[in-house]
Parts: sequence; structure tokens; C-alpha cells
Amino acid sequence: MTAGFYHRLDASLRGNADRTLLTFGDAALTGAELVDAVARRAAVLVAAGVAPGDRVMVQAEKSLELVLLYLATLRIGGVYVPLNTGYRAAEIAYFIGDAAPRLLVCDPADAAAHGAQVSAAGGILMTLDGGGRGSFADAVTADRAPAAARNADDLAAIVYTSGTTGRSKGAMITHGNLLANAHALIATWQITDDDTLLHALPLYHIHGLFIALNTLLLAGGRVDMLAGFDVDRVLGRLGTATLFMGVPTYYTRLLADPRLTPALAAPVRLFICGSAPLTPQIFETFEARTGHAIVERYGMSECGIICSNPVDGPRIAGSVGRPLPGTDVRIADGADTGVLEVRGPSVFAGYWRQPEKTAAEFRDDGFFTTGDIATIDADGSVRIVGREKDMIICGGLNVYPKEIEERIDALPGVAEAAVIGVPHPDFGEAVCAVVRPTGDIPLAPDAIVAALRGDLAGFKLPKAVFIVDELPRNAMAKVQKAVLRARYAGHFT
Ligand code: ATP
Ligand code: MG
Repeated sequence: MTAGFYHRLDASLRGNADRTLLTFGDAALTGAELVDAVARRAAVLVAAGVAPGDRVMVQAEKSLELVLLYLATLRIGGVYVPLNTGYRAAEIAYFIGDAAPRLLVCDPADAAAHGAQVSAAGGILMTLDGGGRGSFADAVTADRAPAAARNADDLAAIVYTSGTTGRSKGAMITHGNLLANAHALIATWQITDDDTLLHALPLYHIHGLFIALNTLLLAGGRVDMLAGFDVDRVLGRLGTATLFMGVPTYYTRLLADPRLTPALAAPVRLFICGSAPLTPQIFETFEARTGHAIVERYGMSECGIICSNPVDGPRIAGSVGRPLPGTDVRIADGADTGVLEVRGPSVFAGYWRQPEKTAAEFRDDGFFTTGDIATIDADGSVRIVGREKDMIICGGLNVYPKEIEERIDALPGVAEAAVIGVPHPDFGEAVCAVVRPTGDIPLAPDAIVAALRGDLAGFKLPKAVFIVDELPRNAMAKVQKAVLRARYAGHFT
């Protein structure tokens, strides 16, 4: 009996042989059709020389063919390595060198740029475009490849982290990790074969791939896939969904559209949000507008989902809820506020080819240090205060940017704010705010500081406020504080 994730998924697809489980544009596949389509793509991979344990690296636009390629890789025991479509040639070169893929599947337009490097690394290249066309799809025949036996400890994927705090690291995710997290999410979100997920997320990140797709298919639910997040399409199809998952910006963009009404949102059972902090403003505005309290959850490439707000029970703005069943969390060194540590069956097997870094981030008793600073409430629910690398030490006192950002975000005329520490001759680091205005009312730096004065201790008040048109974001839409710190590094010196 194999404990591989794909075997369990395959059983679930076969158990739903005649039901439509995946729709994408005009295509609709039943469980039986999915298994067959995946087995035929699996044969393409086998013919290309991909053996169990080999890396299949993929940078491609979202398409039905891409979903099948992902599942086919798992079926034959390959290690799936998804890459953000935003990465350019120099970045891809680093990932190819690091992961040494047996096969790289990329857009036809990029094939010339990567071909030589892939062959130098002993791999081959196939292509797949946003319409699902390319040499990979062309190679599909009537041949079918069987599912390879896999154990819980075998690698299923290497997921490169978003690179928010530095160079992306390859997190090694096992079949056991995928299975454990999918089961815990099915239980936590009470997902059944009656559910339909409207899937607007990208397929190069754990959110769209593991949290959304794996979980629904394992539960025998239906996935209605869109090529990407588009307000018109999402609003047009919400009425047929029971679940929606998004990053905070999806919710902001939905709220900006007057067509989002309680009636439109009524069929949806859960609106789920994560990958970046959901501000209390968005949470409250969404609830007031639709009657739905967003289920905020917290996770990371290395661990899958760690915590979630409940289906039954209060969902608290600013809280990411309790750990999933089977997952333990604690604050490092028993402090009130400190680095969150996690242990459980979904925690990864280590960083690819970085044994020292892996050893440094695990405690002797198996807890992984997330690098996120958190507090744990009396009822066991977790609040993420910020990232360890973003904490500011001003005159010896710890300052957590999120507390200040939330207050600035709430001021009239502010679209969003990022608070950073900038070197300062007296204080070591000074608190600085970088603010993007909404543009409807004038915003003066002094007025922002004055507005905060009544609510925050003096050492937390920004010593400088910079008004900008745009906050720099990485490919996962997360604010790049390192870029801001570099930009303003010389301000006080
Ligand atoms: P890198 O590790 O390369 O710096 P990254 O940590 O942004 O990049 P991901 O694994 O994609 O890469 O993101 C995980 C991080 O996202 C978490 O560690 C946490 O900081 C943040 N995050 C995810 N969900 C939430 C949430 N609900 N609230 C606050 N932060 C969240
Ligand atoms: Mg990280």
C-alpha cells in the first residue's frame, strides 16, 4: 500500500468517475476523464525520460493542460517545481542551476533563452503556452503511464519561496506533507463533494496548487477554474460557487465593484483569504457589504496552511485562527510575542540542497522556526504581528511595523502604508512610514504623524513619512520592504 498523495487523489477521482470535477473555459472533465487525461500526460513525461525523483520544472501560464502536467508529474513520482510566471530569464537561470530539472516546460517564447542551460544540466525542454498548446501537448498520444508507488517521505514538489525576505529557497514538500495538509483543510473547512471552488489563483504557488486544487479534488469537490483573477469573471461566476479563495488584493478589488452584493455572494459558503495579511478594514468592509466574515488563514511554502479561522465559531479580524488538527504551534523561548514555531505532518522536509540552512531553522524537538512574529491568544488562536526581518529596534525598543501600518491605513486619504526601520545615528534604527495616498484628499507627512500621536507611544511614531505613488511588490504581490530599506537607508546619515 503506497502512502503517496497521488494514489489517494487517484482513488478519489475514480470514486467520482461520472461527476464533473474540473471545468476550465469550455472544457469539463469527469473524474474518469481526469484520470485518463493525466495518465496520457504521464506517458509523455515517461517518454521524455522523467523517472521518480526527477525534477519537472514548469513556468507556464494557467491552462487546463498545465493542471494535467502537474498531476501527471505526481502520478509518475516526479518532483514538481512550479515557477512564478513573473520571473525573467536571469532568475530562471538560477532556478535551473539549483534544481537541475530533467525536464523544463516553459512558454514557447522563452524556449530559446533556456535551451542551452537545460541541456548543459542534463535535461530537456518542452513548451506550453497560455492556450495549452506547445510541444508538451503535441506529444500526447493514446499511451498511458501507470501511477508510480510513492511513500509519504518521497518528494512531491520543490516550491521556491516568494523571495520576500531574500533569495528564494526551495522548500522540499513530500507526498505525506500534501496529504496531511489536504486532509486537515478538508476537516477544517468542512469540504465535501457538494462544494464548488471558484479558482482564480495562479498555479505556481502553494495557494492555487495545494491549498485550492489538491484539497478540492481529494474531497471529490468541483473546481471551476478561471485563467486568472478578473473581477468581471469572478463576479459572473460567484453564483455557482460555494468556496472562494484569494489573496487580500482580490478582496480589495471585489469591494471596489458595486456589483458585489449580499445576493451575489449568498451561494458562497466560505470566502477564504491568505498569503499576506488581511487588514481589519478589508475584513470589516467585506462583512458589512456581503454579510460574510472572511476566513483568514495563515501558511507558508514550507508548511502549507498552519492556522485558520473557524467555519463554526467567531472569525476575528486580525487573527489567523487556531492551528489545524495535528499541527502544534508555540512562540520561541516561551515569550509573549516572538517567532512562531510549527511542528506537524505538513511541515516540509528541508531546503533543497541547503542542509545548513535547514538545520539552522529546525529546533532539536522538530519545531520549524517560521520567521514570523506572532502572539497566541488564551483560546489558542494566533495573531501574526509581522516578520522577524522587518522588526525595528528603535533606541533598544522593539517596534512591530504592522501595528503602525494598521493605524496609518485607517487614516482618511491613505491607500496603504509600509513601515520600515532606517539606520539612525542616535536610535540605531528609526521608524519610517512609506505611504501611498488614495489621491482624493491631500496628505501631509506631518498630519499623519500628528494623527498617530494620541494612539502610539513616542518611540513608535514615524520619524519620517515618505509619500509615494506605488509600493514595490514582488511577483507574489508582497511588499518588498528590503527595497524600501535600501531606498531610504541614507536618510538620517
Ligand atoms: P521568503 O521566505 O522567500 O522571504 P515568503 O515568506 O513571502 O518569501 P511564502 O512562503 O510565499 O514566501 O509566504 C509565506 C509568508 O507569507 C509567511 O511566512 C507570512 O509572512 C506571510 N503570510 C501568509 N499568510 C499570512 C496571513 N494570513 N497573515 C500574515 N502573513 C501571512
Ligand atoms: Mg518565507
